[in-house]
Amino acid sequence: MKTPQASAQVRLIGLPTDSHSSFLRGAASAPAAIRAALFSDHGNPASESGLELGADIHLDDAGDLPLEEKPGDVDLISQAATTAARDGVVPIFLGGDHMVTFPIVAGLAAVHGPLGILHFDAHPDLYDDFGGDPLSHASPFARIMERGLAIRLVQVGIRTLNQHCRAQAERFAVEMVEMRDFAPDRVPIPPAPLYISIDLDALDPAFAPGVSHHEPGGLSVRDILSVLDRVPGPLVGADIVEYNPSRDINGMTAVVAAKLVKELAALAAKGD
Ligand code: MN
Ligand code: MN
Repeated sequence: MKTPQASAQVRLIGLPTDSHSSFLRGAASAPAAIRAALFSDHGNPASESGLELGADIHLDDAGDLPLEEKPGDVDLISQAATTAARDGVVPIFLGGDHMVTFPIVAGLAAVHGPLGILHFDAHPDLYDDFGGDPLSHASPFARIMERGLAIRLVQVGIRTLNQHCRAQAERFAVEMVEMRDFAPDRVPIPPAPLYISIDLDALDPAFAPGVSHHEPGGLSVRDILSVLDRVPGPLVGADIVEYNPSRDINGMTAVVAAKLVKELAALAAKGD
């Protein structure tokens, strides 16, 4: 099937930080590993829709932000998101731990207003406070929701829901497609301005072993692509987080992340 001509400017921004990982470090080295897989000669730049990086989709690699694992990182990340939105480009952020999604969404919402958010994860990341750290990678969506930065939050692939996070989900009216109920066509797609956050532990460890928190019984790569295929596009931004190269096997998970970059970039162009 021939796709319509589309052009979008996508900005790749690396966020090499582990500052709010609760269990293992490693995500800080993810951006370089994902870029290496993305720009490797092992594959070509076509997305599954036919839109190609470098041809239909202009990809500008902005490199990594100079993060120092200090409180000022939050502002740097927010500013990068705001600047991208003001420049009229779609930022795709490469984490880093999942903390980064809170400042990214805050920075984008400062320009676009509250976002529709589609979030893939084994975990709801709704802890009010995890281990005494309100910026924990287990808490970004609590920070987003309590500030009214999302008009709608849809979480997909969840399979670790405890009482506290269930109560938080009710408090914030989070829509959840738990893994036990998952089918691609059961996922409500939030409205524009749409943001997509992919925590790679949403995937079954068989597909993405390179994560800090292995949680069996998860999504396949194809499951995520099937949901993304239902997104009308375009996006205002996206992130791929929690890749931990030190846990990976033969770079399998880096290639998954690189493929997701291509598919998110294609979505950024779709419907543009
Ligand atoms: Mn997770
Ligand atoms: Mn997460």
